[in-house]
Amino acid sequence: MHDTNNIVFLNGQFLPASEAKISPMDRGFLFGDGIYEVVPSYNGKLVGFGLHIERMQSGLNAIGINLDMTISDWRNIATKLMETNGKGNLGLYFHVSRGTDVKRFHAYPEHIQPTVFAYAFEIPAATTADKQGVKQYKVTSTEDLRWKRCQIKSTSLLGNVMHFQQGQDAGVQETILFNQHNELTEASACNVFMVKNNVVLTPPLDNQILPGITRHMLLNILRKDGTLQVQERALSMSEVRAADELWITSSSKEIAPVVELDGQPVGNGKVGDIWQKAQSLYSANKYLY
Ligand code: PLP
Repeated sequence: MHDTNNIVFLNGQFLPASEAKISPMDRGFLFGDGIYEVVPSYNGKLVGFGLHIERMQSGLNAIGINLDMTISDWRNIATKLMETNGKGNLGLYFHVSRGTDVKRFHAYPEHIQPTVFAYAFEIPAATTADKQGVKQYKVTSTEDLRWKRCQIKSTSLLGNVMHFQQGQDAGVQETILFNQHNELTEASACNVFMVKNNVVLTPPLDNQILPGITRHMLLNILRKDGTLQVQERALSMSEVRAADELWITSSSKEIAPVVELDGQPVGNGKVGDIWQKAQSLYSANKYLY
């Protein structure tokens, strides 16, 4: 896939990325005023498509963008992007901004058309439940300094970008975040799970975290399987530091094991058995969503 020759979707047309142009007066550019999604697909099979589109629609509703598109319109765009960009391991990026106005003014304008953009990019091969082969993550942690509407998958990602960069600057791959009460929220681009005494734990859904589709599917799969106990509850920093296992989840990573937090080993510092069980159940069931 050569990025500039990629065929992308913009406002009803499929065209090479280099020819896709939007106005600098687009509110996505000026204000980060928009909603986005990333849907993974492996060999042309989409994971959690309906759930992703539902979440995008609730984001659009939350910020008052009226978009006249159905789930099958989105599915057609996804199918065409997979056909034209090869059917390997792709992330399908969907982006809706409020649209282009004639002036820069904060209030929502009444009569503009949303800008709709979609493209496909390569993601890592699907994770397999292989303790030796899986990518092991090291993370740092910091106070969550983002806004109070993190449940909205907004294109205004500067807070997330700055937290992600803190991890890069510390030489690790992610940054996990704690609120002002030292409770775990999420990571800059992932949800977070921990394991203690064979119980799988993750913070509950509220305005502090994105309702991750991977998180939702994993909780559902684990509960249906019933072998592991699962709890959604507030998790203190000291509980996280004493975890047996720590995982970060996202559409492109699936369930990624974290072996080091702030320079200290997580549990015994190795990829855990519960991760293996969870990833193996996830791999077996992910296309059912
Ligand atoms: N939390 C944040 C802040 C994210 O940006 C993401 C994904 O991009 C996630 C969680 C995981 O969400 P999902 O599993 O839907 O990819």
